[in-house]
Amino acid sequence: MTDFAARQKGLRALRRAGWVWYVAGAAAVLVGSVLAWVRFSVFGVEFSLPGVAGWGALTASCALLSLIGGRRFPLLGVLVGLLAMGIGSRAQQETGRAVRGRVLALTQALAPVNDKLMRVGLPPIEPFPLGQRWADHVGPGPLWTFWGGAALAVGAAAAFCGERLGRTCGRCGARWSPARMVVFCPACGERAGPLIACPACQSPLEPSDHFCAVCGSAASSD
Ligand SMILES: [Zn+2]
Ligand SMILES: [Zn+2]
Repeated sequence: MTDFAARQKGLRALRRAGWVWYVAGAAAVLVGSVLAWVRFSVFGVEFSLPGVAGWGALTASCALLSLIGGRRFPLLGVLVGLLAMGIGSRAQQETGRAVRGRVLALTQALAPVNDKLMRVGLPPIEPFPLGQRWADHVGPGPLWTFWGGAALAVGAAAAFCGERLGRTCGRCGARWSPARMVVFCPACGERAGPLIACPACQSPLEPSDHFCAVCGSAASSD
């Protein structure tokens, strides 16, 4: 295999892997947004709030946007991925502590009432289970959002680099527009694209052609 063919093959693999990570990451962010972000129990009844009730609505719509616009603007995936990582890690760090603080404040507000109840021999009001840690109030949603965002950002960067390097000359570094079909580098003449002449009749072929459109000969695969 020539250097040229090896480079093309490597770039194709990079682009393909990038898109797999891109789509899987965006899907994970979407899943994360409908999973529970906040969990708490009141009088023994468990409640959970999905991410879409809060910041998850933003990460979900951005993930959808990155799936729709990704083909044209792969860098959108990097932005959305970083945003999801930021929101996911912030929710992971702070949601549980915020809920814990609220629970402690309510428990404290009930203290004088419970004091009076106990003085007259009535059981105290204890809406929240005792001995919970802040981590008990965090659902799986924020972690999904964080790691989904990481996969999305990495995949988008790989897809972007693969696409850009695919239209950059391997020898002199010249770059051409995506619309241009380039077989030899316009700056230095290095081979930069697939052979496009029919081996039988020398008519031009498109890179995706399996057969010559003029004489029907099999196009030699690169
Ligand atoms: Zn060149
Ligand atoms: Zn031909």
